[in-house]
Parts: sequence; structure tokens; C-alpha cells
Amino acid sequence: MLKKSQPKPRLGISACLLGQQVRYDGGHKRDSFLTEVFGPFVDWVPVCPELEVGMGVPREPVRLVGNADEPSMIAERSGKNWTATIKRFSARRTGELKRLNLSGYVFKKDSPTCGMERVKIYTPRGGATRNGIGLFAAAIMTELPLMPVEEEGRLNDPALRENFIERIFVYRSWQEIAAARKSLNALIEFHTAHKFQLLAHSESHYRALGRAIATAKQAPIGEVYERYGRGLMNALSVPATAKKHANALEHMMGYFSTELSPGERQELVDVIRDYRRRLIPLIAPHDFNSPLRKKISGRVFATSGLSRSQPEGAYAAQSRLMVRLGARRQKNSGNNRIGTDRCCHR
Ligand code: SF4
Repeated sequence: MLKKSQPKPRLGISACLLGQQVRYDGGHKRDSFLTEVFGPFVDWVPVCPELEVGMGVPREPVRLVGNADEPSMIAERSGKNWTATIKRFSARRTGELKRLNLSGYVFKKDSPTCGMERVKIYTPRGGATRNGIGLFAAAIMTELPLMPVEEEGRLNDPALRENFIERIFVYRSWQEIAAARKSLNALIEFHTAHKFQLLAHSESHYRALGRAIATAKQAPIGEVYERYGRGLMNALSVPATAKKHANALEHMMGYFSTELSPGERQELVDVIRDYRRRLIPLIAPHDFNSPLRKKISGRVFATSGLSRSQPEGAYAAQSRLMVRLGARRQKNSGNNRIGTDRCCHR
């Protein structure tokens, strides 16, 4: 778990998304969500591979040509082949970025260098299919397979955006415990803190990870960590739904329902039911104005193993960001009721 003194998650990003004028035409693609809303919660590491290999600004645009497995990067007019240069650069730069301990990466969509998926690949005759990956993005994803990655275009989808944010903060916490002295106790503590979160994504992954912990003594601790880390990030990649979240909330409620009065219990059942029906957002239990919710929130933190004495921890930062996103959605929708088309969890 992150401690108060630990820095914000460090994320790689295509430099043009931060407003740097590094594109082939001297322009940028500044993204207001990334710079204004998300930016204060993370430290960006901007990278423009085309600029860094010396292609200059402005420059001749490039495209991917050939087949999806082994495309070439070719300048559109002169036909200059940049493939070897970009690949050499990618091998070196991914090594540097690995050492920076990145917790995620945001790529510029459609770019033959930075695009994460569906990048156009041209045939030598000029036709194109959308099944390519930018050469630099491919190198990053190969070298850092567990690290959460997204494109700015996909982050316009509220469900994908919240999933990405969640994965970043959990991955950051995972990086911390994986870098510390490995022990079964530390792994159990981590699993306890995240088990309901896992349940909200995938019950089968949740059970498999629980089994992995239960049988952990039979394998070398390094192997157990490696398997757990892979399972953890795979689980979080499965989309959470309102139904699965409600299921996890009901599991949590089982831990402390006897401490609630009948009226409080009914109120909580109603909140979960309304959330399941997508009438209210998941952040509703974080409304600290209500005494009941204050009580529940404290119990939820304790039940999940999270400590509220770590205000700058991963969970606190993620919560603040989610609350801010929730407030934006409510402002955009013009009322307090979250319509089904605005609910983040499908
Ligand atoms: S998409 Fe990548 S290579 Fe292109 S301008 Fe942006 S950062 Fe540079």
C-alpha cells in the first residue's frame, strides 16, 4: 500500500497530448481531461519518439506499410524507411522508462508510432486496414506487459476511463509491495485490501487468486508474486459492472450488518439496490455527510484492510479522482440522477 511520503504514480504519455508542439505539422493534440482533471494526480513523463530520433518539427509524415506482424514505417512522400531507427530507439527508451518505474502509459491514438491499436497499415498499392500497432507502443507493451495502457480517445468512454484509473492505482500499490522484501504476510495483506475490488471485476479471478494465496507456501515466493501480479492485472482488465459491484457490496455488508439498526440496514440495502439499478453512482457510499455512510465507510475501509490514516495513499487519491469525475458527470447531466447512459459501469 502507498505511504504518505510516496510520490504520485508516474505515467508515460505521448508528448503531443500534453500540448507540446511536436507533431509533424508543428501542432499538438492537447487533451483537457488528461491535463486538467487527471494531471494533478499523476506525474507525467512525456515522450515523442519521432522528435527524439531527430525527425524534426515540422517533418514529413510517416505511415505503417506491409503486414500487421512486421510493418515498416515509411515516410509518405520520400519513401524513406524509418523502421530500424524507431525500433532501435524504442529498445533503448523502453529500458530507460522501465527504470523510471512507470505505473501506466497514455498513447496518442491512430499514430504509426504511438497508436495502441487499430492503427492504419497500408499496402504498397495504397489500400489500408486498421489492424496495426504503433512501433513504439508495441515495444512498450511487450516490455511492460502488466502495466496499464490506454489511448486518449478511449478515455472519453467513462467506463474505460475509470477502469484505467483504477488499474493505475492498484498497479502502483502492487509495484510498491513487489519492490519491497517479498513475504507471504505482505501478499496476504495486499490481497485482503483488494479482494472486494477483484470480486467486482471477476469472481473467477477472485477465487483463483484466493487459492494462489492459500497454496503459496508450496512454491518459491518470487514465483508466487509473479503469478499473483499477472492474475491481479488480468482480473482488473475484466470490466466491472454495476451488478458485480453490488454483489461485492453485499459481501462486505455481511461483515458488519449485525452492527446496524434495522433502519440503517434497510437504508444500506436501498442504496445498493439503487446502485444496482444504476440510479445512483458507486461513489454514493463516500458521501460523508450522512452519519450512516460515515459509519459504513469506516467499516468498509477496515473490512478491506485499507487504512484511512494514509490520506495520500493509492485508495485516497483514486477516491478523490473518482469523486471529481462523478461531480463532472453530474454537472454535465444537469441533475443528481445518473442516467443509464452516463453510468460508468455497464
Ligand atoms: S503521436 Fe507520438 S510521435 Fe506523434 S507527435 Fe505525438 S508523441 Fe510524437
